[in-house]
Amino acid sequence: MGMTYAFAGLSDVGRLRQNNEDSVLWDSALGLAILADGMGGYNAGEVASRMAVEHVRDGLHRWQTQTPRPYGLRQLKRALATCTDEANRAIFDAAHTNPSYAGMGTTLVCLSLAEEGRVIVAHAGDSRAYRLRDGALTQLTRDHSLLQEQVDAGLLTPEQVHVFGYRNFITRALGVEDTVVLDIHDFDVNPGDLYLLCSDGLTDMVDDADIQAVLASSGDLPGKARTLVEWANRNGGRDNVTVLLTEVQTP
Ligand code: CA
Repeated sequence: MGMTYAFAGLSDVGRLRQNNEDSVLWDSALGLAILADGMGGYNAGEVASRMAVEHVRDGLHRWQTQTPRPYGLRQLKRALATCTDEANRAIFDAAHTNPSYAGMGTTLVCLSLAEEGRVIVAHAGDSRAYRLRDGALTQLTRDHSLLQEQVDAGLLTPEQVHVFGYRNFITRALGVEDTVVLDIHDFDVNPGDLYLLCSDGLTDMVDDADIQAVLASSGDLPGKARTLVEWANRNGGRDNVTVLLTEVQTP
């Protein structure tokens, strides 16, 4: 395809929290970008989100070294689902073995760049993936949250959406039950595409129009990541804020 990818990620505790329960990593060799937003008492949220991103990364790495190339999109999707299932099981088991980890769980959103010029987006929870293409921002994921369910059911007016009291109540997460179902979709990839993975600490603080403005601005990738985090903090920084950018470049 002749496409290469550049990554830039940043995670910040925000202005009110003591701990950062978000985890983020990317692996250029695997073509993988992954972000998780944990929950749980003490430092359990940090443990859950870290376990999620590392288990999926390690599992995909093992799978890629054992699988002859080229592999198909369906194979890669299945591998991603299997790795996430294993991560879910590991978090679930830890939460039921260690009392200080009881009740921990985490969202997950990941981007896997397939060899066929497609990108796979998988998620559980309210961490999101967006794509900026030709200056326009598109949300590629649909939150697994009570708020999204109410919106889908037509139960909330636009005014009510803004004051909805349970906006951080998610309906799907890793580590909560012994299995988890990911939403997995694939999209075509164009040169110049810019993908954003983020935790709700960004999207609760910065609206889509402002996210689009930052992503479409001139400037390098790390600078855009810094600006997004700065805007979330400037608007209150009520939660941990994490962003991970992936840019499709042509050499
Ligand atoms: Ca969060």
